[in-house]
Amino acid sequence: MHAHPMKARASSASVTRMDLARAKTESESAARGDAGRVTPMMEQYIEIKAANPDCLLFYRMGDFYELFFDDAEVASRALGIVLTKRGKHLGRDIPMCGVPIHRADEYLHKLIALGHRVAVCEQLEDPAEARKRGAKSVVQRDVTRLVTPGTLTEDTLLDARRNNYLLAVVRARGGPGEASSFGLAWIDISTGEFGVAECGASALAAEIARLEPGEILVSDTLYSDPELSPWLRALPAVTPLARDVFDGATAERRLADYFAVATTEAFGALTRLELTAAAACISYVERTQLGKRPPLSPPRHEAAGAAMAIDQATRSNLELVRTLRGERDGSLLAAIDRTVTAAGSRLLAQRLAAPLTDSAAVNNRLDAVALFAGDAALRGDLRDRLRAAPDFARALSRIAVERGGPRDLAAIRDGIKAAAAIAAKLHRRKDLPVEIREAVEGLRRPDPEIAETLTAALADELPAFKRDGGFVRSGYDAELDEARALRDESRRVIGQMQARYAQETGIRILKIRHNNVLGYFVEVTAQHGDKLLAPPLNATFIHRQTLAGQVRFTTAELGELEAKIANAAERSLAIELEIFARMAGAAAKAGADIKAAAEGLALLDVATALAQLAVEQNYVRPEVDGTLQFVVEGGRHPVVEQALAREGVPFVANDCDLSAAEEAGTGRIWLLTGPNMGGKSTFLRQNALIAVLAQMGSYVPARRAHIGIVDRLFSRVGAADDLARGRSTFMVEMVETAAILNQARERSLVILDEIGRGTATFDGLSIAWATIEHLHDSNRCRALFATHFQELTALAAKLPRLHNATVRVKEWHGDVVFLHEVVPGVADRSYGIQVAKLAGLPPAVIERARLVLAKLEADDRSSPARGFDDLPLFAAAPVAAPSQAEAALDALTAALAALHPDEMSPREALEALYALKAKAGAR
Ligand code: ADP
Repeated sequence: MHAHPMKARASSASVTRMDLARAKTESESAARGDAGRVTPMMEQYIEIKAANPDCLLFYRMGDFYELFFDDAEVASRALGIVLTKRGKHLGRDIPMCGVPIHRADEYLHKLIALGHRVAVCEQLEDPAEARKRGAKSVVQRDVTRLVTPGTLTEDTLLDARRNNYLLAVVRARGGPGEASSFGLAWIDISTGEFGVAECGASALAAEIARLEPGEILVSDTLYSDPELSPWLRALPAVTPLARDVFDGATAERRLADYFAVATTEAFGALTRLELTAAAACISYVERTQLGKRPPLSPPRHEAAGAAMAIDQATRSNLELVRTLRGERDGSLLAAIDRTVTAAGSRLLAQRLAAPLTDSAAVNNRLDAVALFAGDAALRGDLRDRLRAAPDFARALSRIAVERGGPRDLAAIRDGIKAAAAIAAKLHRRKDLPVEIREAVEGLRRPDPEIAETLTAALADELPAFKRDGGFVRSGYDAELDEARALRDESRRVIGQMQARYAQETGIRILKIRHNNVLGYFVEVTAQHGDKLLAPPLNATFIHRQTLAGQVRFTTAELGELEAKIANAAERSLAIELEIFARMAGAAAKAGADIKAAAEGLALLDVATALAQLAVEQNYVRPEVDGTLQFVVEGGRHPVVEQALAREGVPFVANDCDLSAAEEAGTGRIWLLTGPNMGGKSTFLRQNALIAVLAQMGSYVPARRAHIGIVDRLFSRVGAADDLARGRSTFMVEMVETAAILNQARERSLVILDEIGRGTATFDGLSIAWATIEHLHDSNRCRALFATHFQELTALAAKLPRLHNATVRVKEWHGDVVFLHEVVPGVADRSYGIQVAKLAGLPPAVIERARLVLAKLEADDRSSPARGFDDLPLFAAAPVAAPSQAEAALDALTAALAALHPDEMSPREALEALYALKAKAGAR
């Protein structure tokens, strides 16, 4: 039995473990005979479960996976399936629920998505074998696989267009007063990608946000670290592991073992932390795959700063790979994805998540896009070929962990062929950019022999599972053909036998049938049964079964034939499985070459897709270099533009120039004012997105763009409450602003939208004011700042690199018309009432607001300190119609005011008091 010393998370699984520990001791004593109530099967279950305490155990029984005890309760709740009982254990009912085999993947998917781990326990022998050992014998079973969120390989459990990373995080504590540093290693076992990096404490969250791992491995120590624990526990699917997995001393050896190399030096210089994280990942992969080794690329070291740093808040604000609501649709990724293969789509998402900071590398990518943007015929041809290419990296991984089927072999065959065909088309060209040349080299790596063998061996129609047989082409293997002929011949013989029996018995409707319980049998209707049960026919026909309408028999001859058929079928399946194993072995052996070809195709897909996008959406190649330029002429928002186009509305292109002045070497800040709905947010985001697109190696939605590398991108856009973490809008805004002011440097690009909105006007204005000064004087970064505080525009007089811009509007018959044009200057007013009118506020309210505003603006002249655009709200409050209570109070006040106590006699005073009381009493 395999031991899996993975530690349980704080979930119900740990309860299960305790319970089972107890149950196990009890069952041991039961086995000694003091209780005598534990069945052998339950004993087996408890033993297997005890070895996998932190997983839900799928225990195979015939056509079902059954779950027992706490597992059953957890699963029935999670899956919405019925909880039943099966016998008793130590006097208590055993809760049970079951999942039919053919729907197992679907249920696994749900459980994994909820962060559970599942151990799948199979029957290792035919139940008939167990029965031979005695009536009480239990079918041999054991765990054949562990399914965890970060180690999936099945297409049914994976999103084709996304990587699913397993990430290991290790920490090295800094010296006194120093920050800790972290080692990261991430593996997508479904594709074999393997990366390592080191980062500082401040960048850890951003790295995790970039990779979006399916599962995160940390040591127990880290998991219970007082500082990190609350944060770690809030992340989805964190798996704490025993310390030995994170042992630095054995890390290098474990890694070298996995790749069967003498030393890890071949992987380049990896730091101690990186090695430790990489080894932790590897160990977990081996454990969950029960020792099988999916083909991994050697760990690729990612230098710190190689990718544009984008923190979690900025990623979600800019809706790079999904919208704020969590959907792919509406994100930048969805808007630019023109890939035609799943692998291409994954690579595009990776690139978008990590734009490069090395301008030479960016230009290599852009060169590749340029080749295809300039050659429509080549692009079209490649895209047609790519469209037909399967996701063979994932097929290969499945084959390597022995979870693959005949269709995976076919995918490898077709993938290699597609790669070879494309390579043949491209490799003689002299004008290939570096990136494409390398991709083509990858395409040419697999030995064509593998594809040829697969072509020769695989049938045209393939079953989903190898156990179904019938996937080897006839004519490929003589022995197989013979076994199959025998099987088919026997089936034909059965047909003849049926005809002969019908004739001999004179029962025309006599049939020879087959089922799993009886095997082959002769069947006649009840009315004919007696004839076969009586002499002379009963000498030939042996009674097997009498049903309501039929009687079933066998014959010696039929029995013999049946054995022959079964043997032949068994033999042909055995031969097929042998052939499968041989081909799978060959594919796995050539794994590195096949992976290189798959990567080459993914790269070509991305390059041609970006070219397609550029041509279709009229994007331009950006000039990307090491300067501090930021010039966008005629820029558009890639997502809004496409959304408007679907409604036939044109997008208004706008210019932006944040370039550093030559001498100063520090970037410009644009302060953007203008009415709500004028297009400020859109303008801010579009410029950030253009920087992201340019540095990921894509053309950009602009007439011209010159982007000096941005090392970090920050954005604080819109207001989003983080109620889950108990922070108000304003608090979130300030936390994000603090991060920006503390971290932005000359090379950074900062986008700030409506800072200081969530508090009192003066507070907000003051914070926004100080923020701009700090960005200008200390951060000295390129920045865009949108605000509704007109007052801030005065700063331009004081700060030389601050530039005022506004979105143009036209007033027309009291309505506002947004032109969405960004022009130099300052907004003349805020048009809040016009926007409110557009939004459908009742006409009476709009009218009233206009009056209040007019009054406020008139007052404003005498007290110029006032005049913030949120005042009308407060000023409008007292004009509400007086309520009844207020009317009564007014009457009392008026009566009181009419009294003159000095002129009253004591008696008059007393009468007045009675009168007032009566008035009050009437209320
Ligand atoms: P603000 O931030 O000033 O309130 P938004 O940027 O949210 O305004 O823009 C409001 C709406 O105006 C957007 O949803 C979009 O439909 C439209 N819009 C913005 N900019 C443009 C543009 N350049 N061209 C066309 N429509 C635009």
